[in-house]
Amino acid sequence: LFAGPVDFLKGVVAMDGLPPDDRPEICFAGRSNVGKSSLINALTGRKGLARASNTPGRTQEINYFTLGDQYYMVDLPGYGYAEAPVAVVERWQRLLKAYLAGRASLRRAFVLIDARHGVKPVDAEIMSLLDGAAVNFQVVLTKADKVKEKDRTRVLAQVREKLAKHPAAFPELVLTSSEKGDGIATLRAIIAGIA
Ligand code: GDP
Repeated sequence: LFAGPVDFLKGVVAMDGLPPDDRPEICFAGRSNVGKSSLINALTGRKGLARASNTPGRTQEINYFTLGDQYYMVDLPGYGYAEAPVAVVERWQRLLKAYLAGRASLRRAFVLIDARHGVKPVDAEIMSLLDGAAVNFQVVLTKADKVKEKDRTRVLAQVREKLAKHPAAFPELVLTSSEKGDGIATLRAIIAGIA
């Protein structure tokens, strides 16, 4: 799928821990349970790969993977669960902002949105953060197999309306199902087109 190894590289807790920015990089962000791990596994054809970022202790880290020799793939922790202590959340927010604003090799963020639920306020917050850092982002709708045709039209319209307010957003949405494989080849092609 990708030329070279696809592997977990490291979890980063501070800016000085980032690997050298010697290749283009993409990142994935989304609410907890949106289907991010499943999507990363489907995308790479490596079942269990994204489990590396969900192990205890890794959930507040910027998790780096090699996506072949050509790209770094970054799995950002799922957001939207406010159970962590305030100090931990604040430390994480600072790191996230520093990363988004300071990572020159970050070419695109993929913001995952559950195709049943559309854009929630926490998603809009991340999108505003990306706008502020001038990081282009593209919405990937997940779990498409769980939405009925009539609901899909309504959710897509809601997402498009929300995206119109975000200057860093790509207007094209990618509709995926990790379960059925829908949209996975499209997403791979999009990544392969990033230089
Ligand atoms: P994460 O917390 O964002 O990493 O989410 P996971 O990948 O762990 O998925 C959360 C739940 O949604 C799991 O029970 C998955 O099996 C389920 N899920 C993920 N992707 C899909 C999908 O495309 N279709 C369906 N039907 N379920 C999915």
